[in-house]
Amino acid sequence: LVRLRARLARSQNTLGKGLLTLLSREHLDEDTWEEIEETLLIADVGVVPTQELVERLRERVKVLGTRTPADLRALLKEELLTLVGTDFDRAVKTESGVDTPAVVMVVGVNGTGKTTTTGKLARVLVADGRSVVLGAADTFRAAAADQLQTWGERVGARTVRGPEGGDPASIAYDAVKEGIAEGADVVLIDTAGRLHTKTGLMDELGKVKRVVEKHGPLDEILLVLDATTGQNGLTQARVFAEVVDITGIVLTKLDGTAKGGIVVAVQRELGVPVKLIGLGEGPDDLAPFEPEAFVDALIG
Ligand code: GDP
Repeated sequence: LVRLRARLARSQNTLGKGLLTLLSREHLDEDTWEEIEETLLIADVGVVPTQELVERLRERVKVLGTRTPADLRALLKEELLTLVGTDFDRAVKTESGVDTPAVVMVVGVNGTGKTTTTGKLARVLVADGRSVVLGAADTFRAAAADQLQTWGERVGARTVRGPEGGDPASIAYDAVKEGIAEGADVVLIDTAGRLHTKTGLMDELGKVKRVVEKHGPLDEILLVLDATTGQNGLTQARVFAEVVDITGIVLTKLDGTAKGGIVVAVQRELGVPVKLIGLGEGPDDLAPFEPEAFVDALIG
């Protein structure tokens, strides 16, 4: 955890640290407030949340009187925490509540880190003593099933796969069936994220969802977004949210960007919490999203 925080801090510190430096200026003139606004916008916080935050900061700094570094840090931390949101339920639902496995479907555009995230999540669950079955329903990207199976072998989870270009829904169906047969705790289904047309995507994910639900409820639909893609990621989020009911967001590649503000923007866009963050390509580089640790890392 310490290592994750350090990594996050390294990549993120321009936002919070930048804000703190600006707020600490002797004269908080209009130019400075504009710079504060720019800093937030550049970090992908989004226009409306940025304006709201700047408004609140202005008010609060006004009544603060003296601005000691400790005061400012506390104030900024509190406001960034409010922005990120502290009352979401951010736990990934991996308990089904019935005697069949919990089913988690992982969706997102190819290249965002979907397969990697599915593998890392399997690892976390297995390390926690849960038994996992993987469904390689991304039959579009040729290497995806191999990649997932490699993760499965590494962590000790069986992978259900089909022929290349096969029917994703039938693989998803088989994976859940296998999960039930094995008495597994969790079935994780990796899907294809072709954004060629919205109807194509809708047909495919809709079908996967429907066949999975023949076995029982779908407990979680995680949308994987690449944090480095900014506005593009938000557009993707919108399309997926129209197609399936997203229950949680995974922001990958946060190690490669200073634009941590995307957390705020995407939550606001979908009304769904960021539940997990990807901080690298390695097996241990998936972490639960913890607002306080995140904001601390932002401020540095
Ligand atoms: P998919 O097509 O969405 O299944 O994407 P992959 O899982 O194959 O990932 C695409 C690339 O992104 C791979 O090279 C991954 O190693 C890399 N990747 C995934 N998650 C992260 C992350 O959190 N940080 C970094 N730096 N790279 C990541």
